[in-house]
Amino acid sequence: MIYLDANASETLRPEAAEAVTRGLRLAGNPASVHAAGRAARAALEDARARIAALLGAAPEGVVFCSGATEANALMLKGFPDRRLIIGATEHDAVRACAKGAEVIPVRPDGQIALDALEQALGRGGPAVVALMLANNETGVLHPIAQAAGLARAHGALLHVDAAQAMGRVGIDLAALGAASLALSGHKLGGPAGAGALILAPGVQPASLIEGGGQERGRRGGTPPLPAILGMAAAADAACAAMAATTARHASLTAAIAQAARAAGAVLIGTEDCGAASGAAPRLANTLCLALPGVRAEAQLIALDLEGICVSAGAACSAGKVARSHVIEAMGRPDLAGCALRISLPWNASDADVTAFIGAYQRLAARVLRGGA
Ligand code: PLP
Repeated sequence: MIYLDANASETLRPEAAEAVTRGLRLAGNPASVHAAGRAARAALEDARARIAALLGAAPEGVVFCSGATEANALMLKGFPDRRLIIGATEHDAVRACAKGAEVIPVRPDGQIALDALEQALGRGGPAVVALMLANNETGVLHPIAQAAGLARAHGALLHVDAAQAMGRVGIDLAALGAASLALSGHKLGGPAGAGALILAPGVQPASLIEGGGQERGRRGGTPPLPAILGMAAAADAACAAMAATTARHASLTAAIAQAARAAGAVLIGTEDCGAASGAAPRLANTLCLALPGVRAEAQLIALDLEGICVSAGAACSAGKVARSHVIEAMGRPDLAGCALRISLPWNASDADVTAFIGAYQRLAARVLRGGA
């Protein structure tokens, strides 16, 4: 099997597997006062400090929770007196919390239209703005520092969904000037089940779950220690290897892009589909490729039959393939049902990429010749 779907779940890193095992062997509850509890608490606080240090954040600002879906919800539902503004290409984890929010359009290259954001900020009272750092379908990176500057100038809080960006691009909360970040353990190469909301000093969303007052009363419930230790180990490993991994990924995705374009594919977010040349920066591991007129589901199945795991532009949790609201928002509704996302895991090999290119070329030759 060739796994090129890291943006759905990154391949488990050995450092994370080892840390999870260590966490499973810790008997105590971090809230207990006895020695076993204190050992669990020490491991929890060590993970918190390490994650904070990777992000230029304070350890007290790290709120552990179950994943990025919950982290986004904690922040977006945590300020009921503020209105919500979100980018048009946000993940469903954000969109579901922001019914009735003002939606800011993106340009053809997928980046937020900052002028439209500024206008929206100027139209009403204090807001929470949600803007992802890296898009999960296209890998497009948004201009977060500029958006944060606009938000601050209007008394708004900028929440950044960094689920796909952490470990792939450098992130410094203070330098970005954002109010908060959402993280997901399984997007880093840790296990599913842990995530974090990272808060800048003074930002205090109301809690969704009060329970036993864990996480300084911001997220009740016994923290999933093994998954949290796995997330911290994965974050350390991803950040330590980031420069080398990014360079490798960039050359592998450039090879895929070149072969796919030669086979008739359109690379979403580039001049192929109406973006200005020198389009928006993207994650090095992510490509979104459309074969015009060919249903994504048919492409996915054809590649799956060759043992290759990729994702449709929008992977739906029910296992069905939905039209991509991201590609629609980028002004190409005609391509919204025909795109695949290729996202290389940290350990993707040259052989994996060569196999993918061969299978994709065969698929494109067959479907573009015969129709799908
Ligand atoms: N935000 C983004 C950008 C994502 O890509 C995902 C998962 O695909 C999520 C949030 C949800 O993360 P989790 O699975 O940790 O809840």
